[in-house]
Amino acid sequence: MDINETKAIRSTLLEETGKCRACRFCVDVCPTYQASEGVESISSYGRLQILKYLINGLIDEDDPILYPLYTCLQCGRCDIVCKGKGQNLEVSNLIRLGRSLLSQDLVRGGKNEDL
Ligand code: SF4
Ligand code: SF4
Repeated sequence: MDINETKAIRSTLLEETGKCRACRFCVDVCPTYQASEGVESISSYGRLQILKYLINGLIDEDDPILYPLYTCLQCGRCDIVCKGKGQNLEVSNLIRLGRSLLSQDLVRGGKNEDL
């Protein structure tokens, strides 16, 4: 991934996470949330908030709070619900994009200055 791709992903995440209305309709259908018996950070909405904090510089890319991004099953249930409620955020894709940004840090073996 070159620097332009990194910037494009960052821009997409910034724009799209800002569109979430916090209605939380997507939370109950998320299988990891169901399995956690109510831990919101392990839900679609929770992951979106984590991405928002990351992309706005409120947490570092090595913060343990990012862990739920890696527990998303990519099932797409949240996408269907969000679309049905008229907001149409591709939450699973945003989570995947967030993972790809963070993976650049691992590849480089240190802090990702582009994040
Ligand atoms: S359904 Fe969409 S708008 Fe509502 S909380 Fe989930 S991601 Fe945000
Ligand atoms: S794609 Fe991820 S965040 Fe969305 S419902 Fe499935 S496990 Fe939850």
